[in-house]
Amino acid sequence: MNTERVPFGDLAREYRELKAEIDVAVARVLASGWFVLGPEVEAFERTFAGWLGVRHVVGVASGTEAIALALMAEGVGPGDEVITVAHTAVPTISAITQVGAIPRFVDIDPATCLMDVGQVEAAITPSTRAIVPVHLYGQCVDMDPLLAIAERHGLPVIEDCAQATGATCGGHNAGSIGRMGCFSFYPSKNLGCYGDGGAVSTNDDALAERLRMLRNYGQSKRYHHDIKGINSRLDEMQAAILSAKLPHVAAWNDRRKAIAVRYREGLANSGLMLPVEREAGGHVYHLFVVRSDRREAIMQAAAESGVQTLIHYPIPAHCQKAYLDLGYAEGRLPNTERVAAQVFSLPMYPQLTDAEVQRVIDAVVNAGHV
Ligand SMILES: *Cc1c(COP(=O)(O)O)cnc(C)c1O
Repeated sequence: MNTERVPFGDLAREYRELKAEIDVAVARVLASGWFVLGPEVEAFERTFAGWLGVRHVVGVASGTEAIALALMAEGVGPGDEVITVAHTAVPTISAITQVGAIPRFVDIDPATCLMDVGQVEAAITPSTRAIVPVHLYGQCVDMDPLLAIAERHGLPVIEDCAQATGATCGGHNAGSIGRMGCFSFYPSKNLGCYGDGGAVSTNDDALAERLRMLRNYGQSKRYHHDIKGINSRLDEMQAAILSAKLPHVAAWNDRRKAIAVRYREGLANSGLMLPVEREAGGHVYHLFVVRSDRREAIMQAAAESGVQTLIHYPIPAHCQKAYLDLGYAEGRLPNTERVAAQVFSLPMYPQLTDAEVQRVIDAVVNAGHV
């Protein structure tokens, strides 16, 4: 038996694959002597907007701040309520509380682990100011019914696309469907930089203008601060790296999908619950998340055969110490809580070899018999 480790992620492999292009991009920025908000950021914003099919992209410092800035651009602030899910990366929630707003949670669909759109309307109150669907694991929330509800109530939909670069819903790219889309370029995301970075996408000219001011101390032009802003900028180095990587994202996402097909075949009789794809398709497998009531035993046995797995996410936001004050008692979001106790993620990145994918399958299948 081959006992070589299969790590959960390995970004050095990606760098080796693209070393020539990345090194040229980084050297170009160093030689330019210009490091924050400049031609590299503008070029990336333009190219990424074209790639997504939107009018504007505004580069910011992280995915968390992309969401916070989108909320600020909509005027969401202290005391306002924002509807989202508790089964997400906690930064979704950090962004909402960063602007002083109150997260209000709806449960998830237990099949897809995505926002149960059917629960959104009942969660709307006179204080609701925005809805933040999370396209978790690389798959879009069912956007058509959500947009219909939002329109009926005059609420903006701000998409959390941090795990969904390249995902589609009804033929439209994640981030081009709601009022704004929020992207993270954290290194392990489907499009990642080599540090922190993020972006907001929108088709609305006025919102884009506002976002450009908000990310840069509220300046309309140098030394003219028209609104109260923050410092949340994408830097030139990260933008140059992103421009070098963007042309590869479609092929990388195809490779993720091909790995998902192999996992599905290899694990069909494993007893694990496999990820459910919405009929609309468009999943880009940021993560390949399976479920089992014997999660801990299987993860442990897989680790012993050298296959690293992780949990996304073990503790839902409403059960985190920081957010107990939101008043969601355990039991309030039963699907969220059940799913959080069952999920675990298999290695999923474009540079995984077929042999490694097979080793993961073998390890997990054998672990299932333990
Ligand atoms: C990664 C992530 C974020 C936060 O992005 P950062 O760039 O790390 O701030 C927000 N939401 C989700 C769903 C994420 O996966």
